[in-house]
Amino acid sequence: MAKLSKGSIRALEMLREGHDFAFKMKDNGFNVNGSHLGALVRNELATATDVQLVCECCGAKRKVKRYALTEKGKTFSQDGE
Ligand SMILES: [Zn+2]
Repeated sequence: MAKLSKGSIRALEMLREGHDFAFKMKDNGFNVNGSHLGALVRNELATATDVQLVCECCGAKRKVKRYALTEKGKTFSQDGE
């Protein structure tokens, strides 16, 4: 597989810590973007599922992707990292 970027490695670490949405990663100080997460999905380290979140305060709905580690993603380590 292609070498993962630093950003993708960081996103994988965040996912392992339980941050399963991009906004949670951002809330925890990592400015993740779609290409970081897309690389994880393309390399079968994670899956992405569309889910609808409803805001508790106002009921606003939004569709976001929830990410989950695959078995490969749980054990993967990149040489030299
Ligand atoms: Zn709201």
